[in-house]
Amino acid sequence: MLSAYDLTRDDWAALLDGEPAFRVEQIWRALWLEDRDIADVTTLPKALRARLASAVSEPLTVVREVESDRGATKKWVFALEGGATVETVLMAYDDRVTVCVSTQAGCAMACSFCATGQAGFTRQLTVGEVLAQVFAAARSAAPRRLSNVVFMGMGEPLANYPVTVEVVRRLHEWRGMSARHLTVSTVGVAPAIERLAAEGLPLTLAVSLHAANDVTRNELVPLNRRYNLDRLARACAAWVETTSRRLSFEWALIDGVNDTDQALDELAEYARPLRAHVNLIPLNPTPGYLVMGSPPARVAAFRAGLEARGINATVRQTRGRSIDAACGQLAAVTNPKRRRVPLASQSSDR
Ligand code: SAH
Repeated sequence: MLSAYDLTRDDWAALLDGEPAFRVEQIWRALWLEDRDIADVTTLPKALRARLASAVSEPLTVVREVESDRGATKKWVFALEGGATVETVLMAYDDRVTVCVSTQAGCAMACSFCATGQAGFTRQLTVGEVLAQVFAAARSAAPRRLSNVVFMGMGEPLANYPVTVEVVRRLHEWRGMSARHLTVSTVGVAPAIERLAAEGLPLTLAVSLHAANDVTRNELVPLNRRYNLDRLARACAAWVETTSRRLSFEWALIDGVNDTDQALDELAEYARPLRAHVNLIPLNPTPGYLVMGSPPARVAAFRAGLEARGINATVRQTRGRSIDAACGQLAAVTNPKRRRVPLASQSSDR
């Protein structure tokens, strides 16, 4: 059965056949602009609410809800139909409220330092399942308005390409969100970046770089063996040229691995021609990767080193570490069917 956020306006019109025409608009506004649950659309007669609620499925079941940062960060573990689980994180800041959504249950990219990658891939999410995460978070954020959606939860958004594109499109067209408020983060699926550039979608692209030499990057991000740094740079250049948007690189600072002066020079050289912004992430601990994050002084020095080399850099504020909700820590491990899918059978040349 489809869920409320799978349905288009025409689908609602068909479901509301026989009702006054303004009902479609009422439900549409309630769902997409007012972040309401069907059960809370009090402008609809009670019987109609009940009928609509039973005509659509509820794609997410809360398994666990935890908070940290004095309530400013919240993480949900949601069970999907079939039993797989995903995690969603809501972060409230002074100037914005951001939800971090998952696009896959698990991930097949196998990045060594990421807990999701360590656990393997379970399945793709549907459009309704990704949107349901956004709106569950939006309802929880009220009375503050959810302002930003980042595709940085479990999974590789560009390995679930059609769903990611459709979700971005709906959030833009139906909820009125702009490019500055929608960020897709990718491990660097080069052909998919080029295809995305041509879609003309309003979004910000972040590329998880982490190393700017192929030897190190092959270790950290195995997809690099398929799309190496040269290939990735070509895709990034196409993105910047086609969209005229600023690109950003994510770089999780790992002690002695990618925080050296040599790494600094390599990164600066790679980022400069693309005029990319660098977002430094202090490495968050995960069970399967025993290397340490860079000490705070090194993080600060690395940032200063980038600035001195003419590269714009910021340090990402870490949220939710105590509840395993920080970058790279999402790994709902309640699905016994979780399996590792070989890289080669996962990503397709698009
Ligand atoms: N698959 C996408 C979306 C995940 S985004 C991607 O890789 O971009 C999550 C971000 O957190 C990515 O930049 C990822 O590389 C980073 N990350 C993964 N593990 C981490 C860890 N242990 N500490 C800090 N950042 C990590």
